[in-house]
Amino acid sequence: MVMETDTVSELIEHLSDKRLGVALKINGTVRSHMSEYLRTKGYLEIPPVIFSTVTDPLNHPVVDPSFDYDGVKYALTKSMIFHKQMLVQKFEKIFTFSPNIRLELPEKASTGRHLLEFTQIDIEQQGATREQMMKLAEDMLVSLFKKVNQTHAAELESLGRTLSVPETPFKKYKYLDAEKEYGPDFENVLSKKSSSPFWIIDIPLDKREFYDREKADEPGILADMDLVYPEGFCEALSGGEREYDMKKILERIAKKEQTEEQFKWFLEFAKYGLKPSCGFGIGIERLVRFICGFQRIEMAHPFPKVPGRRSI
Ligand code: ASP
Ligand code: MG
Repeated sequence: MVMETDTVSELIEHLSDKRLGVALKINGTVRSHMSEYLRTKGYLEIPPVIFSTVTDPLNHPVVDPSFDYDGVKYALTKSMIFHKQMLVQKFEKIFTFSPNIRLELPEKASTGRHLLEFTQIDIEQQGATREQMMKLAEDMLVSLFKKVNQTHAAELESLGRTLSVPETPFKKYKYLDAEKEYGPDFENVLSKKSSSPFWIIDIPLDKREFYDREKADEPGILADMDLVYPEGFCEALSGGEREYDMKKILERIAKKEQTEEQFKWFLEFAKYGLKPSCGFGIGIERLVRFICGFQRIEMAHPFPKVPGRRSI
């Protein structure tokens, strides 16, 4: 695939688009409201980690941006999953606005929801269950949507967008049931036919990274969850209860054919013992895109980096 290159005139056109101005205002409201919401509930904001010796292996192929500094190999952050798990041992409730770099393969351009560089609000809580964190996510989004409707009614109208405030609890589908009923593209199919966000839960072990915890009563199934936006906007967040048993962590790394060396400093830390925790990460640009009803995610970022394009 030949990479397309953004031109400066395209950038100027993008920056001049009124919809971008609306998206940036809403981005500001998302950040301030979520931050205030979480603080009020006792979550401590931590600064982001931009590069580290250890980062999320992800469960799909991406180009790996890493570099050597003073004899040590560092990678740019794909997610702060391990930093969250380490921090939550000492600080029980944490969140961060975490810039993530995921150099997705060019074919991801067609989804309209992938950017090579994005920010997620990443949350983790010691001792929490998946159900507690799902409730937090639901309540937080409902509160945000109400705030956006109050604060940005005129702007949403200028976009022709009606943002409905969903009823809670959101509907839940088990991964394997949804796949059986709607086929391999079930997330997309269900997203298109839904008018309210919904959960995909109980995801099979091979579909996710080693750090999410296997259910005690259902081997091969993880106590994790994805939130999916309706109207075809698809994935909003991923999260789950974390594996804290060192033996299982090592087994899961081996099963993935990953190396302990890759996660060395996290594993060293884990040897001191990990407490159970649960958390999730919600992409801000995807959230803004959904609120605004944009066809593609680019309009939610002033300098969007789309897979397969050379961007400024
Ligand atoms: N690590 C997940 C992601 O970035 C989020 C989470 O599980 O907290 O996709
Ligand atoms: Mg995900």
